[in-house]
Amino acid sequence: MIGGGILGACVGWNLTRYGAEVVFIDAGRPGEGVTNWSFSWANASNKTARKSYFDLNVAGMAAHRELARTIGPDSWWNPSGHLRWADDPTAEAKLLETADLLASWDYRAEVYTGAEVRRRLEPALTVPGEVPVVFYPDEAWVHGRHLVGRLVGQAVASGAELRSGTTVCDIGTGADGSIRTVALSDGSRLDVDVVVNAAGPGAAHVAELVARHLPMRREPGVVTRIDCAQVPVHRAMHAPHIEIRPDGDASVVLHSREIDALIDTGEDPTELAQLLHGLARHVVPELGTSRITQTRVVDRPIPADGYPSVGAVPSVPGYYEAVSHSGITLGPVIGRLLASEILSGKRDELLADFRPERFHP
Ligand SMILES: Cc1cc2nc3c(=O)[nH]c(=O)nc-3n(C[C@H](O)[C@H](O)[C@H](O)COP(=O)(O)OP(=O)(O)OC[C@H]3O[C@@H](n4cnc5c(N)ncnc54)[C@H](O)[C@@H]3O)c2cc1C
Repeated sequence: MIGGGILGACVGWNLTRYGAEVVFIDAGRPGEGVTNWSFSWANASNKTARKSYFDLNVAGMAAHRELARTIGPDSWWNPSGHLRWADDPTAEAKLLETADLLASWDYRAEVYTGAEVRRRLEPALTVPGEVPVVFYPDEAWVHGRHLVGRLVGQAVASGAELRSGTTVCDIGTGADGSIRTVALSDGSRLDVDVVVNAAGPGAAHVAELVARHLPMRREPGVVTRIDCAQVPVHRAMHAPHIEIRPDGDASVVLHSREIDALIDTGEDPTELAQLLHGLARHVVPELGTSRITQTRVVDRPIPADGYPSVGAVPSVPGYYEAVSHSGITLGPVIGRLLASEILSGKRDELLADFRPERFHP
């Protein structure tokens, strides 16, 4: 397993359960890549552009619930729903139109007023009383690093091996082109039957090791954590201009697509964090006394057309990809489907639109 983020952890955990011998290899430490720097909102409401992608994300949310039943929700699974509202008429009309579309697809969406939200769900918000707020009760936020810790820990307890702090720098193939070995930066070499490229933003580089071109977008994001004596919000939310979610009992995570757009203008990440904090204070004044503790700019792992690349690459027998944005939502379902494909050779219809062969078959 090349990469121990949420995708590698989910595939590896499932393979171990089915009795396969798994070695997790991570250049850093499992769960500390993009998975730890994500808004981490498990949803399908933001995935309406293509129905098959929406369906995959709905399956992703169901797979999270199943996983929580299997390993326990612990601190990683936070099914508290999601709130979204807008501050201009065009965006508000779009939001309500999307909620209607989702309801017609049997996806639960409830519309409240700002006043009702403050009374029933989030007293600390400044959302105006008459503004419509869409509540998606089946959505959640995920503590990605904690989930990865649980999955890799369980897999290792069942016999998997973990090699952290070492990079896959070469992949060897046999005369028939099938995967035989991986070479690591610590000088060791492993004999393998299968490799799974779950290297997140490093996936294009790993694909090159088997002479494959995996085109990826460059789309960086900036995420900030702030410490609070008491976390004043109870769930993830998209307020106008800023996304806010709890991150445990004493921390809040902030992100904004509008602030991401400033990354390439050369703004210092510390300044970007201040901007995020300013936007958040506007929505939740209590966050004004909190302190910025960590900020990171990371690249989203997005194949060039914006959709996941999951499954076998038939021209390189034994080589599989698990590369996706929305990996927090999709990790458990991709993990289950890909592990089953690796062991049985059967390809699930849910992944039909997201096969690696669509790039340079
Ligand atoms: C700002 C932002 C907001 C997001 N918000 C959401 C959201 O709200 N909901 C959602 O579902 N998704 C969201 N995402 C996307 C989601 O976070 C990612 O899709 C997911 O975390 C990717 O997980 P991964 O396992 O592929 O990558 P990573 O977590 O990065 O794991 C890859 C691992 O591979 C290792 N690695 C790389 N190269 C090598 C190598 N050669 N050898 C060995 N190890 C290697 C790295 O060390 C790393 O640990 C967001 C992403 C960003 C950046």
